[in-house]
Amino acid sequence: MSLEEKFSWEYLKSVADALDSYRIRVLIDAKQDILDAGIYDESQYEGILFKMLDEEKLKYTLFNYLKNNSKNDLKTLTKFSELNFINLSKTLSLLELLKNEKLIILEEIVDKIEGDENTPEKIIFKDYSIKTNDVPISKLKPIYEPVKVIFDSKICSGCGLCAAICPVNCLRIYNGFGKIDEDKCIRCGLCYFVCPRTYLPMRILNMTQEKTSEIKDYQKMGPFLEAFSARTKVKEISEICQDGGISSTCLHYLFDKNEIDLAIGAKMSNTLWRPEPIVLKNKDEILLTAGTKYVNNPNLQILNQKDLKNKKIAVVGVPCQMQAILKSKIYDIGVPSLNNINYRIGIFCMESFSYESLLKICEKLNEDINNAEKMDINKGKFFVYTKKGEELSVPIKEISHLAREDCEICYDLTSESADISIGSIGSPSGWNTVLIRTENGKKLYEELINNNLIESKPITEVKPGLPLLQKIAGSKKSKSKKHINSKKEENVRVPNY
Ligand code: SF4
Ligand code: SF4
Ligand code: SF4
Repeated sequence: MSLEEKFSWEYLKSVADALDSYRIRVLIDAKQDILDAGIYDESQYEGILFKMLDEEKLKYTLFNYLKNNSKNDLKTLTKFSELNFINLSKTLSLLELLKNEKLIILEEIVDKIEGDENTPEKIIFKDYSIKTNDVPISKLKPIYEPVKVIFDSKICSGCGLCAAICPVNCLRIYNGFGKIDEDKCIRCGLCYFVCPRTYLPMRILNMTQEKTSEIKDYQKMGPFLEAFSARTKVKEISEICQDGGISSTCLHYLFDKNEIDLAIGAKMSNTLWRPEPIVLKNKDEILLTAGTKYVNNPNLQILNQKDLKNKKIAVVGVPCQMQAILKSKIYDIGVPSLNNINYRIGIFCMESFSYESLLKICEKLNEDINNAEKMDINKGKFFVYTKKGEELSVPIKEISHLAREDCEICYDLTSESADISIGSIGSPSGWNTVLIRTENGKKLYEELINNNLIESKPITEVKPGLPLLQKIAGSKKSKSKKHINSKKEENVRVPNY
């Protein structure tokens, strides 16, 4: 039954007006523009509209509930969750939206324990203090800004998700930078909703990972269940992989057992060392993605391809991409391809570069980029291994100014929002460090072992092990905090983590 048969447009518009929801009103008014753009068909459009309608209703139910209480704290939120049969983390996600829309003033009551460069300060959550704002809702609509504000403030990580979900296809990420066709933009704000650099409620992301209603504070590496050091036993992968080949082996297993139809990752484009997104359709194509790529790549942009609808998908990506996917699970906007992502395979990431910066690094090493066979970051140095077998290196300190500006404010080294996180730090050469974060990730890893696809050891049995990973992850968090604070002092927009 079509939407017209279920509800009249006039009825829907009156609901949007009653909710004072500009977001819903825009989606209704721009129906034809959305269908003409061809990204979503009519039933998908209706799916998005009704999902947003449900979310808006629940958000305003919470707002009115808070407005009618004289004192609002964690107990109030727990009570609201019980009354509405939702998890506390769902209520907290709505609370975050109300805060972003400036409908409430939200204060966290915490205990702070100061840290040093390698040990970030510890924050221990105590309670919330919530006050509702009396300004009429219709006067407060900043949340509906398109992500141009993120591009303009140079904090876009280039993950590509906004471009994938834009209902009128007016957004592109190229070479790590975004552009909006403002004539086409309908200001629906869906891009703002999914972007990890607008607001990213880390505590809710972590609660969702752990499926817990307990509010905890996670340090350094986010929640994980187990940690291992591992390497592949699949010959074709071991012959070409950079470290232990575990991310490729995960895809190999998932394709083999029909657990996924497609996988999204990055492959090298025709320009050597400039990657581009790829949709992998079978396990033979996995080899195209082998090797670490240091140039930013908007993998998630490819999620808008039509043949991805109704398919089971795995995504391999860096931490900011895992954050974007997990955020879109929490703030579900009803986009089919996002809901079909069954596996988040996260890669460790310290920083990324533009292609032009990578050329400059090669210039510094007096080497043509086309002669580079492998690149690596290890022991504080950037290595280029040439086709002639030479090993060239430069201390990271000397090239850190060439890294992307947005990476300075990135707090996540270890892909805290993935099902399973994979990298090289902490394990010996030729092995991967693997952090199992969710039950889904745990089941996948166990199947790799059961199917004799990998060699696995507890991380405690290898050197340098978790202490090194924790140290570097903690230092990335401290540095990102410093950058965020200095941007705040300069009145530059920063993500609301
Ligand atoms: S750019 Fe953003 S606000 Fe504009 S139409 Fe696309 S998703 Fe909506
Ligand atoms: S961080 Fe991702 S979602 Fe946000 S603006 Fe950049 S590409 Fe778009
Ligand atoms: S450092 Fe962070 S923002 Fe930069 S590419 Fe890596 S995960 Fe993304």
